[in-house]
Amino acid sequence: MKEKIPVIDFAKCTTCGKCVDICPEKAIHRAQNDSCARCIKYCISLTIPCKPDILHFDYENCTSCGDCLSVCPEKAIHWYAIPVEKK
Ligand code: SF4
Ligand code: SF4
Repeated sequence: MKEKIPVIDFAKCTTCGKCVDICPEKAIHRAQNDSCARCIKYCISLTIPCKPDILHFDYENCTSCGDCLSVCPEKAIHWYAIPVEKK
């Protein structure tokens, strides 16, 4: 049972791919983005978080080794502590 898992802050992530390359378990994938993005040109404040290339974790294969946190130049990956279930 994992105690923590890595998560990405997409406000910081530049999708450089260094975390994808370093992961020993191949547990970080680039997702195909099939968003149409038509809304972006109408958003006055440009706050719509639509990116052409988004990453996602395969938590089944992630061993929580921390390599992706260490390599990220933007410090965009952090740990999420999984709440322990009380019996
Ligand atoms: S290494 Fe950091 S900035 Fe680069 S793709 Fe991964 S999370 Fe994003
Ligand atoms: S913590 Fe380790 S195994 Fe999990 S996604 Fe990051 S580099 Fe891969």
